[in-house]
Amino acid sequence: MDDTKKQQRIAENWARVSESVATSAAQASRNFDDVKVIGVTKYVDAATTAMLFDAGCASLGESRPQLLWQKAESTSHLNDVDWHMIGHVQRNKIRRLIRHCRTIHSVDSARLLEKIRDEAIQASVQVSVLLEVNVSGEASKTGMDALQLREAIDDYLQWPDAGRLAISLRGLMAMAGRGTNDGEAREQFSEVRELRDKLVSHSGLSLPELSMGMSGDYAAAISQGSTMVRIGSALFDGVLPQ
Ligand SMILES: *Cc1c(COP(=O)(O)O)cnc(C)c1O
Repeated sequence: MDDTKKQQRIAENWARVSESVATSAAQASRNFDDVKVIGVTKYVDAATTAMLFDAGCASLGESRPQLLWQKAESTSHLNDVDWHMIGHVQRNKIRRLIRHCRTIHSVDSARLLEKIRDEAIQASVQVSVLLEVNVSGEASKTGMDALQLREAIDDYLQWPDAGRLAISLRGLMAMAGRGTNDGEAREQFSEVRELRDKLVSHSGLSLPELSMGMSGDYAAAISQGSTMVRIGSALFDGVLPQ
């Protein structure tokens, strides 16, 4: 596929997905603006990533730290890409990661949260963090259960001011279990929202963001209050090798 065709196809996909996200939001009596699409670029190279950005998708996500910073470095000519880290992060990757990315969706332990705090203070930056929930209960999935979340938030509330300034706790992130149907996915997303509401009343934090929904289940996620959908394959339909 030549680059012009590819660019065209990606622009069409972006328009289609944006419209479908808007429709899902309207059906849930929500505003389109309340749901941000994070274009997940882990399937494609830097040049194809730039095509998605040029089509209008300003927020991009990667699931591996090294790939995020490599891509951020090779697309540094693009102005203002809003990079999101959406996958598992090891503690020794934080320092380099936060040079390029100020939102981490997938914080799955209090230890990792403390490491991000320490590196953010060191670098004099503020990092927005979402805590990852293991909502499906699958052992293969990362994320915290309700008790671990509450403990991580209680720890955060005890931090000195410098730490609480360096980390903005924005909400929760979750993935529906493998092979769940639409109804099951809705149920899991609704549990995440209820858990968020409980943590809000427990902590007094606002936790406005819910990062839930991927290509196969974003409509279900938006119906349950998702504010960030992480969409990859639907945006690269017809571009990826079959
Ligand atoms: C790959 C990935 C996505 C996007 O998945 P698609 O089904 O391709 O839309 C979303 N979230 C995470 C954490 C991912 O790793």
